[in-house]
Amino acid sequence: MKVNLITLGCKLNIYETEQMQKSFIANNFDLVQTEEKADIYVINTCTVTTKSDTKSRKIIRKVKKNNPDSLVIVTGCYAKTDKAYLMNMPEIDLVLGNKINIVDQIISQFKLKKQSISKKKSYAEFFRSRGFLKVQDGCDNYCTYCKVPFARGEPYSKPIKQVKEEIKQYLDLGYEELILSGLNLGCYDDNGINLTGLLKHILNIDSGFRLRISSLEPQYFNPELIDLLLHEPRICPHYHIPLQHASDKILKLMERKYNNQYYYKMIDKINKNNPHLATDIIIGFPSETDKDYHQLIKMISDIKFASLHIFPFQRRKGTKAYFFKDKIPQRIRDERCRQLAKLAKKLNYEYRQKYLQKTLHIVLETNNKKRSDDSADNWCGVSENYIRFENISIKNVSIENQDLTGKIIKVQFMKIENNHNICHPV
Ligand code: SF4
Repeated sequence: MKVNLITLGCKLNIYETEQMQKSFIANNFDLVQTEEKADIYVINTCTVTTKSDTKSRKIIRKVKKNNPDSLVIVTGCYAKTDKAYLMNMPEIDLVLGNKINIVDQIISQFKLKKQSISKKKSYAEFFRSRGFLKVQDGCDNYCTYCKVPFARGEPYSKPIKQVKEEIKQYLDLGYEELILSGLNLGCYDDNGINLTGLLKHILNIDSGFRLRISSLEPQYFNPELIDLLLHEPRICPHYHIPLQHASDKILKLMERKYNNQYYYKMIDKINKNNPHLATDIIIGFPSETDKDYHQLIKMISDIKFASLHIFPFQRRKGTKAYFFKDKIPQRIRDERCRQLAKLAKKLNYEYRQKYLQKTLHIVLETNNKKRSDDSADNWCGVSENYIRFENISIKNVSIENQDLTGKIIKVQFMKIENNHNICHPV
């Protein structure tokens, strides 16, 4: 039987989809790529915003409409928090929440025959350019706007031994970049070994790969971690540190664990290597005044974030902020979002400009060479400091025409043309 897995949302979901893929393959199902037809569709949903819920529902409907005879199974955070609603959707055959070991359940629920050995695609054929390593799940911060802890539960840390085994598997598959992820990565704790300890253990395994750390809350940037980030060249200088707001009044209402001054000082310490700083911002939180908004604009401009993820505030049922008064009119909220998006574009451009003519190391993602008779390769990939490149032509005959997905190559950043970043391998 053919299975197609569709993923929405964050890196945790990507990791969990990969685990499901492995489990389907171990049970002799055939995995198919996005555009191919399948007998079973698994949609791994996200609920981080109301927009994510809408998108999840839209995909579920579309999949069933185009494949009325296929089974549609829904997993992930939206499935966990709104199970009752989804179970009433006629397009869905089964709702499973955040379960990774779903194959046995699917086989018994639908009385599927045991699969004979598949000769089709192996896991290696679904090889991604970068290995996602989930080392932590769950969060008990309960920021007042966030619904995710209700979907993911209490914090859990994967034991170091298991993390190391997974890394070895990734290295055997040829990955040269691994992404360390977790819902609240900073609270990693395996019997007293914290995130910095985990990073040191990982870096001791082998020297043939680089590590990228996914989103990390500001309060976890302690001196020990900052020292490691500044002195370990194998950790990519790309930090995603959710700010959410600059106003102490709003941060307090959000029940975030830091204030404006802490964030400024922390950035000052980690900014030494001119890293790519990314952040999340919530606009239009209840009681956000013009003064609060301008404080936010000032902070973003001072820090010069290279990437901003802007979320218009939305009330989520089940959260404290759902009941907060002083709502911001949608018109004002949307106008602030527009202004911020403009600023984000400008700052991103300025960040890239600083790296013109510099040498960077790109992990190759996909080769968009359209036809086999196309003369040049057309790779895209991403640098250690998260600058995305397209149309990379590999001229070196010894490696040309090989599948270089996941390999890291050295390039020179030549120019920015129509907002596209152009580089040449060196
Ligand atoms: S830290 Fe806050 S925003 Fe992040 S998952 Fe936990 S509750 Fe949500």
